[in-house]
Amino acid sequence: MNKYKDFDNYLKEFPNEDGYFGEYGGAFLPPELEPAFKEANDAYEAICHSAQFINELRRIRKEFQGRPTPVYHCERLSKLFGNCQIYLKREDLNHTGAHKLNHCMGEGLLAKYMGKKKLIAETGAGQHGVALATAAAYFGMECDIYMGEVDIEKQHPNVIRMKMLGANVIPVTHGLKTLKEAVDAAFDAYLKEYDNAIYCIGSALGPHPFPKMVRDFQSVIGIEAREQFLDMTGIMPDAVCACVGGGSNSLGMFTPFLADPVEIYGVEPLGRGSGVGDHAATMQYGTKGKLHGFESYLLQDENGEPLPVYSIASGLDYPGVGPEHAYLRDANRVNYVTASDEEAMEAFFLLCKYEGIIPAIESSHALAYAIKYAKEHKSGSILVCLSGRGDKDIDYVYENYGCGEKFNLDKYNK
Ligand SMILES: *Cc1c(COP(=O)(O)O)cnc(C)c1O
Repeated sequence: MNKYKDFDNYLKEFPNEDGYFGEYGGAFLPPELEPAFKEANDAYEAICHSAQFINELRRIRKEFQGRPTPVYHCERLSKLFGNCQIYLKREDLNHTGAHKLNHCMGEGLLAKYMGKKKLIAETGAGQHGVALATAAAYFGMECDIYMGEVDIEKQHPNVIRMKMLGANVIPVTHGLKTLKEAVDAAFDAYLKEYDNAIYCIGSALGPHPFPKMVRDFQSVIGIEAREQFLDMTGIMPDAVCACVGGGSNSLGMFTPFLADPVEIYGVEPLGRGSGVGDHAATMQYGTKGKLHGFESYLLQDENGEPLPVYSIASGLDYPGVGPEHAYLRDANRVNYVTASDEEAMEAFFLLCKYEGIIPAIESSHALAYAIKYAKEHKSGSILVCLSGRGDKDIDYVYENYGCGEKFNLDKYNK
């Protein structure tokens, strides 16, 4: 059986009209929210394939976001582990320093075509809020970002960024005052304001059509990377990999490679280990369930309540995963693997020291797996999605790991 052949028409067939990727996805909504999601879906299907929309998005990506981002060959890093060549897709060089802007600009443009005046979202660590506030400023729209009071305290620089960009940061003061309550508050606001506003989710998850929309907007990563890699080397990479939080940068990277003879690796955070509350490795330890309006794999207790999760990377600590990933795992097309905090941090310092690039801690998980792959394979190539830059992380890293002395990086340089 040629498993790649099955994916020739994949993007046309998945998800189906109801937003299902096999048995995952869907839209489990309170009835009063259904019209809002239907409106977004109908608009997306009607507008996003028009030449005018595509051309305007292409221009925005080039002139505002600085796309295409380059593919870069890590020659010095690769040499440390043998002859397997590590390449990076540099989403850290996308405007605002990460891939999230790819779908925020797409959603902002959709909102403009729909005649909406406001973008609404929740944010946890603040990265999605900053990307959406950037899109709102670009399009001249209002932007309401719901954020738990606890997160507002913890993520001060991102709160300042959002405010400077003109967004309203609205504190959420009930319950645990973190991401889950912020999601509820953003949904409530959407319900009241959807005549005037559109809701923009932070990853390839939530009720249909968001997993599809976000995947489609993010697929610019893999489309560019595939062409650039071919141009550089004349062949396909043997493998591609990306970190998986909710799953947006990874699906963006993976979907254009699904029909190619390329191994694909999604890297989840193993945190401090395999105990409950020590990781956020949903594919390794999760089971099928429902959360935030969709079906997928979840880390859940016996009552279906989400379990506590942890990762050193705040962008990866989500108890679920986008439904398309659950499907790609069952279809045996993507291999899900893990990287621990320590493995990610060693990769972080290696990229700093041997390539002059400070990666986001999230992205360092993908890099950690690529290093493992390079050690095991000794030849061939692996293309990594470097989802973001690490400037946001340096204070935390320095406090906890100094400049990486304990990893004794010279051990590789024999
Ligand atoms: C948010 C974030 C992630 C995780 O989100 P996905 O939807 O899984 O891509 C990864 N890397 C960076 C830099 C992020 O900001």
